[in-house]
Amino acid sequence: MEIKVLKDILGANEQIAERNRQLLDSKGVFAVNLMSSPGAGKTSLILETIKGLKGKTRIGVIEGDVSSSIDAEIIGKEGVPVIQINTGGECHLDANMTYRALSNLPLQDIALLFIENVGNLICTAEFALGEHRKVLISSVPEGDDKPFKYPLMFHKADVVLINKIDLLPHLKFDVQAYSHAIRGINEKAEIFEISCATGQGMQQWLSWLQNQLRLR
Ligand code: MG
Ligand code: ZN
Repeated sequence: MEIKVLKDILGANEQIAERNRQLLDSKGVFAVNLMSSPGAGKTSLILETIKGLKGKTRIGVIEGDVSSSIDAEIIGKEGVPVIQINTGGECHLDANMTYRALSNLPLQDIALLFIENVGNLICTAEFALGEHRKVLISSVPEGDDKPFKYPLMFHKADVVLINKIDLLPHLKFDVQAYSHAIRGINEKAEIFEISCATGQGMQQWLSWLQNQLRLR
């Protein structure tokens, strides 16, 4: 019974997500669904990406949070269009919430749209939003066991960023074992080691994004 209900919900969500994707395509917008556990660095990554691509790409942002607009205010200071979605307790964004945000963004002025999902590695993986790519940010302080604990998220990611690598000397995190664990679940995901704090590895990420935009 419960399984059927979940299937219906996901089926309806998938239809709206497809509509979102068509809308984004018609406006020439490339959308990235950014997912991570709380505090892994989603907002920092968006900020550093905006700085790194300044003058090269027109960026827009949808900020998803359970409550507050702290992140949207920080992003707004960078002068890019940003819309806050407060999910009102819901622990993930869905396609319907995303549609409402899209209706309030100047899509014709945006080439690259970041959708910052709610910090959560579980159900965010299940709900398509209409994005073109799913990007997962993991971070060194979370530990290297996450691919085993949240396999669906790692399976669905197009890119896995390992953030905060500047902390590697201080924490127990085996990058090689971690990458190997990801490969066991997902053969195709790009894996980039980065630090939003020091800028290390950011060029790889920015190049990947620019490549995606070029290929469209
Ligand atoms: Mg954030
Ligand atoms: Zn949820």
